[in-house]
Amino acid sequence: PPDVEQLGKSTWTLLHLIAATYPEEPTSKEQADLKQFVKLFGNFYPCWFCAEDFRGYVQTNEPDTTTQDKFGKWLCNAHNEVNVKLGKPKFDCDLWKKRWKDGWE
Ligand code: FAD
Repeated sequence: PPDVEQLGKSTWTLLHLIAATYPEEPTSKEQADLKQFVKLFGNFYPCWFCAEDFRGYVQTNEPDTTTQDKFGKWLCNAHNEVNVKLGKPKFDCDLWKKRWKDGWE
């Protein structure tokens, strides 16, 4: 089976970087496509118990793809849900863009 930790770290990097490069003012097609992507991602993520929980999260927390900032924060909250489940500290979602787009300082 895949290394759940290494897979997770790589995948969060990919997902947060997708948020960081998503348009600030997306078209309605881009909004619909990203929402679809997030949902389909949950169908194929190669850690089945992770994917199952993620699908549950997406069902009760509809991905907000209306702007880059809203999606970045939605994703940060989804990641925090996993952090809490694993006993890791919560990340301050007001700082998501500093961490993944603009850089610290
Ligand atoms: P990671 O949690 O991988 O985070 C990487 C970096 O992201 C951190 O160093 C930090 O700089 C930044 N970061 C942290 N939190 C946030 C945030 N909220 N928003 C923005 N940036 C942040 N593992 C399990 O054992 N069980 C599971 O059920 C599980 N479910 C997962 C579901 C998904 C969809 C994904 C992608 C991963 C899942 N994982 C799960 C893996 C787990 O989340 C971690 O990736 C793994 O434990 C490695 O953790 P890490 O400490 O290296 O940092």
